[in-house]
Amino acid sequence: MSQLDLIRALPKAELHVHIEGTFEPELMFAIAKRNQVAIPYQTIEEVKQAYNFHNLQSFLDIYYAGANVLIHEQDFYDLAWAYFEKCQQDNVVHTEMFFDPQTHTVRGIAFETVLNGLVRACDDAKTKLGISSELIMCFLRHLSEEDAIETLQQALPFKDKIIGVGLDSSEVGHPPEKFERVFAQAREAGFLIVAHAGEEGPAEYVWQALDLLKVNRIDHGVRSEEDPVLMQRLAKERMPLTVCPLSNLKLCVVDDMRDHNIKRLLEQGLCVTVNSDDPAYFGGYMNDNFVAIADALNLTEDELKKLAIHSFEASFLNDAEKEKWINQIHAL
Ligand SMILES: [Zn+2]
Repeated sequence: MSQLDLIRALPKAELHVHIEGTFEPELMFAIAKRNQVAIPYQTIEEVKQAYNFHNLQSFLDIYYAGANVLIHEQDFYDLAWAYFEKCQQDNVVHTEMFFDPQTHTVRGIAFETVLNGLVRACDDAKTKLGISSELIMCFLRHLSEEDAIETLQQALPFKDKIIGVGLDSSEVGHPPEKFERVFAQAREAGFLIVAHAGEEGPAEYVWQALDLLKVNRIDHGVRSEEDPVLMQRLAKERMPLTVCPLSNLKLCVVDDMRDHNIKRLLEQGLCVTVNSDDPAYFGGYMNDNFVAIADALNLTEDELKKLAIHSFEASFLNDAEKEKWINQIHAL
């Protein structure tokens, strides 16, 4: 089997994808038109040209502008459905998607409108495409602790539809410790915990995510490599890192994919996984990420399989489901 055929054949779980970051320009234009919302671009080409980022913030500015056109429940459904179709193409059989309610509630969109649209798409993905999914609600870390607490309160009545909470948006200057109390409340309420840490921020933020937020997974975490003691702990605890190679390249966390540390992290025994982050903006979905690292880092067949196995090991699926998919990978 060629390397590309293997990547396509591997069943995969995606654990780090922002649903608002799957918003393709074509769909953005279509929804803007039907909602009669003005966007600051004339053509799809112009949008794509704007996707020339030099750091996380330059991306976030465009990302929030795009999200403005999402108003009705159907818009959120269409957004998620388009992503599920990409999952099907890439043999992503399970996905745990982030959504950012604050991006929408601040514009006057009701929490339920966002959630109901996403949940309906998740239900249809299960029945029509056979893809299982979970939703993880993220707090925007550039906003206040108070805002996050309010958002958690809004989510409580929908607890059965949201498996966990996370932390995203501008990392530097907004350390995990800023949100220690709201994460304690979320754990108390029974949510699983993830957080972005160690993407642009230092290894110290990963320590904080572990010790103060008590995360079940670290999102990104690539800068953990700067701290050998942290690396030992991550390996020993098999703490998953949801790594996003094309995102790291596009946002200049690495200058060249050949310098990406995912292979080294794997060799040091960490439970690293491959993910697409904001694929509409960063140039590719799951398989594009696999292909990019397989080529740049000369990954072996075993390493590619290991990355796919990790995606299930690190997922919030039950043990029987994990075993089913991991057995399928071993059988390839
Ligand atoms: Zn992310």
